Order: sequence, then structure tokens, then C-alpha cells
Amino acid sequence: MKEPNRVAPDETVGGGPPPPIYRKPNGDVPRAAGDPLCLPPGVSSQHFKQFTLRLAELCHEDNVTVITQSEELRQESYLEPSKCHDMFHVIGKEYFVASAVVSPRDVEEVQAIMRLCNEFEIPVWPFSIGRNVGYGGAAPRVPGSLGMDLGRNMNKILEVNVEGAYALVEPGVTFFDLHNYLVENNLRDKLWIDVPDLGGGSVLGNTVERGVGYTPYVLEQP
Ligand SMILES: Cc1cc2nc3c(=O)[nH]c(=O)nc-3n(C[C@H](O)[C@H](O)[C@H](O)COP(=O)(O)OP(=O)(O)OC[C@H]3O[C@@H](n4cnc5c(N)ncnc54)[C@H](O)[C@@H]3O)c2cc1C
Repeated sequence: MKEPNRVAPDETVGGGPPPPIYRKPNGDVPRAAGDPLCLPPGVSSQHFKQFTLRLAELCHEDNVTVITQSEELRQESYLEPSKCHDMFHVIGKEYFVASAVVSPRDVEEVQAIMRLCNEFEIPVWPFSIGRNVGYGGAAPRVPGSLGMDLGRNMNKILEVNVEGAYALVEPGVTFFDLHNYLVENNLRDKLWIDVPDLGGGSVLGNTVERGVGYTPYVLEQP
């Protein structure tokens, strides 16, 4: 247990080199060409290359990005959130970084990616949009994990049921999207969305992370 009045070493606040305890897994292994900034724990460069080749076969190469340069850790806005690192990092910017980010196009691809990750023993960090800013965003808790950006291609409103007061949505649907749907379909006098402070987050992402809004119910009939 942490000693009560011990404060974090200066260098962990504001982006200096992390102390040894925070060193990245595989951090000291020299990187080969094309290697990610951070390999998954216990995974060799060769093994990771085979994995990403199979992943691109599964999901198409346009939906797979290997994070190889620190320059790629530049997305730092709520509107264009990073998909691979913590925009408000406390420990070094390059610590909680995904090795690669995959954007599946449907449920079957999600299932196939999970089977492949089990086969290659690659940890996975799923997220919907990555706007959980201030709480890590899309940054994986295990450095070098595969980030799974579920909201990029899966962003449809599948059903809104007035009778049951529910909506069936894909991970990429934001509170703004759902609100606009109610407006465009003249449902605002029938249904009411339970919105957190910021409407740009994913309805599903906020729900799985136990979000709270300002009404006692998610979708309420007035
Ligand atoms: C200024 C500010 C105010 C905020 N106010 C509120 C508020 O009033 N109420 C509130 O609830 N939140 C609030 N938040 C937090 C945040 O806006 C929401 O939680 C937001 O919806 C999460 O972003 P996201 O949908 O992009 O989730 P993501 O960042 O995509 O996901 C959040 C976490 O949930 C998990 N996750 C997400 N999607 C999936 C999935 N499909 N499968 C498995 N795991 C998944 C992941 O572990 C991920 O780390 C606030 C944040 C800020 C910065």
C-alpha cells in the first residue's frame, strides 16, 4: 500500500522520463524497422509483424494502423481525439500507447479479431470514440495493447423504439447523433435522452463506463 503522504515524483507530473517502475514492457529492446513505438508485453518484433499481416487480411489494411512514430501522438483535441495515447497524460506521453489500432467494420470482424488476438496473445483495449478525456481516453492500460476503435466504422442507429423507450445503437453513435435522430424523426415530444455534460461521447461508451446524465432514466417518456 502507498505511504499516506508520499507524493508522485516530479518527473511523473508533466511528461518527463518515467522512473524505472513505469518503464514500458519491452522498452529497452532495440526497435526493428516498422516496429511499433511500444510492442505488446512479451511479444517479439517478428511475432507482431505476423500478427499485423493477418489483421490486415481480416479487416483490410485501411483499418489497421501500427503506431511507429512519436509524431503520431499529436491528436490532442476533443473533436479529433487521439485513438492511441492519453491526451492528458500524467506519466510520460509515450507510456500508455497502443501498438496498433484496428477499426472493425462489423460484429463478425470483432469476433475474428478477438480470436486472432487470443491466437497471438495480444492484449486488446476496446473503445467507442476515445473521448473519455481526463480518464485516459483511448489509451490502453497495458502499454502495447491493440486498440480497437469500435466507433469509426460501426456508427449506425439501428432502431429507436418509442413503445419500449429504447434505442439500439452501434458504438460510434454519439449523444448528438441520437438527439439529431429524434429531431429529424419528430420524436422529441415522445423521447428524452439522458445526456452527460458533453454530447460528443458515445452513448454505448458512456454506458459501459457507467456514465451519468441529468435524468433518472436513459430514455424517458414525459
Ligand atoms: C469536461 C467533462 C465532463 C464530463 N461530464 C460527464 C458527465 O456529466 N457524465 C458522464 O457520464 N461522463 C462525463 N464525462 C466523461 C465522458 O464525456 C463520457 O464518459 C464519454 O461519453 C466517454 O467517451 P467515449 O464515449 O468516447 O468513451 P470511450 O473513451 O470510447 O470509452 C470509455 C471507456 O469505456 C470502455 N468502452 C467504451 N466503449 C466500449 C465498448 N464498445 N466495448 C467495451 N468497452 C468499451 C473502454 O474501456 C473505454 O476506456 C465528462 C468528461 C469531461 C472531459
